[in-house]
Amino acid sequence: MTENIVKKLIKSKSGLRIVSAKDEHRSPFIIQEPQWVPDKEITNCTNCSVKFGFTTRKHHCRRCGQIFCNDCCESKVELLRMCFVDPVRMCLNCESLTRKENKFFQKDLKLLTNGAIFLFRGQSQNSSNSIPDQLIRCKLSLDHRYLLFDGKEIIEPLDLNDIFSLKVQKDKISESNTLLEMEYGDNKLMRLVAAIDGPEKKNGINWITAFQEAYTMLERLNEEQVA
Ligand SMILES: [Zn+2]
Ligand SMILES: [Zn+2]
Repeated sequence: MTENIVKKLIKSKSGLRIVSAKDEHRSPFIIQEPQWVPDKEITNCTNCSVKFGFTTRKHHCRRCGQIFCNDCCESKVELLRMCFVDPVRMCLNCESLTRKENKFFQKDLKLLTNGAIFLFRGQSQNSSNSIPDQLIRCKLSLDHRYLLFDGKEIIEPLDLNDIFSLKVQKDKISESNTLLEMEYGDNKLMRLVAAIDGPEKKNGINWITAFQEAYTMLERLNEEQVA
């Protein structure tokens, strides 16, 4: 797996986008551009129902592809999930969702790719090949697809798609520590504990919170694709 990602510039009717040159390097947090609702199908604004005419023009929201009047689709907002270089026009619903997600892209993703130090308590259900407890640095890969581990023992990268449950709780061994528990693959269990005293502990807790947000976004994305 390479940590070196080549980007390319593509041009769509909504603007320029910078995306990974190869599909296999595409971040799972990136969403595709929507199909635009054809102009001729719509006579009234999707939000306020004002009738379109010579003075009331139609505008497409670049995120959902639906048609709105200028008042309901006025803001131009950075749309980091679609990798647009410049801010694009968006309806009110999409605007508020996008502003929340932009915070994740600008702050949380950086925290996740920088990583944090944890006490690793990985455990497979059959304990014959279990890895001993150890301190590790855990970070999200630059293509946002894997968790990478750097410690004394070699721990294989964990594909985010393989994680099927995620829990955050107080550690039973020491109540002041935060524990992230993930079930993945074939009934495997991994526990990461933010247990290092000092600033690194706060960093670990923040990392866990950001990772929870990331996991929620992936789940929401899967729901959108099914719907
Ligand atoms: Zn309107
Ligand atoms: Zn929209």
